[in-house]
Amino acid sequence: MAKIIKSDEEWKKELTPEQYRILREKGTERAFTGEYWDNHEDGIYLCAGCGELLFDSNTKFDSGTGWPSYYASVNDNSIEEQRDLSFGMIRTEVHCAKCGGHLGHLFEDGPKPTGMRYCINSGSLKFQKK
Ligand code: FE
Repeated sequence: MAKIIKSDEEWKKELTPEQYRILREKGTERAFTGEYWDNHEDGIYLCAGCGELLFDSNTKFDSGTGWPSYYASVNDNSIEEQRDLSFGMIRTEVHCAKCGGHLGHLFEDGPKPTGMRYCINSGSLKFQKK
């Protein structure tokens, strides 16, 4: 996949302050405050940084966490994983493979059929109705 490389200045111009904080500084939005945690419409979720297709509403589920949660990504190649040891926890950080934007974390306590839970910030996403 062709990577998108931009300077911090360029990202700052394109993104809202909240998107920048999450995508480029690995920030986290407060639970139950984001735009999509309670969104039940049919559609697709694109990377707010670069427009890459990341998730489909048919894999979204109510996790009770207050963040949009999915049991699978649309395409394995669109999301990269990295070990995250911050805050004294061992977690798997996930980011957009195309622009490197931080999305959230991946946990192995999701529902069937995958058992995975992608816990994603609304601020990393852009929803497009089907
Ligand atoms: Fe991206």
